[in-house]
Amino acid sequence: MKTCSKCKTEKNEAEFSKKMRNKDGLDSRCKACWREYWQTDAYKERHRKYMKEYQQTDAYKEYQKSYQKAYKQTEAFKASQKAYKQTDASKASQKAYRLRKKAAASPGNAGQFSDTEK
Ligand SMILES: [Zn+2]
Repeated sequence: MKTCSKCKTEKNEAEFSKKMRNKDGLDSRCKACWREYWQTDAYKERHRKYMKEYQQTDAYKEYQKSYQKAYKQTEAFKASQKAYKQTDASKASQKAYRLRKKAAASPGNAGQFSDTEK
């Protein structure tokens, strides 16, 4: 049995999370107290701030990159790519891209912006 530091209730060890840093290997707060704490605005605010800071770190960016890379190897991603290519939105954007490329390559457009009025 262990007494929770928050609610001061004596509870079974199973009611506490493992925490290697602590002498007895168990969290000082019981699971119920943590659950209660996770509902508070104070915790949500702290977590939001923590995530925001975490997302600025190289470790996170590296993780995102490797995650994206791994994701692109999955069948789910390949299937979604294939499905997207069949959509009208995709076809339209591909057509627009081709037209832009054609316009840029066309010699007729070359003098369009030059100052011929001089
Ligand atoms: Zn407690």
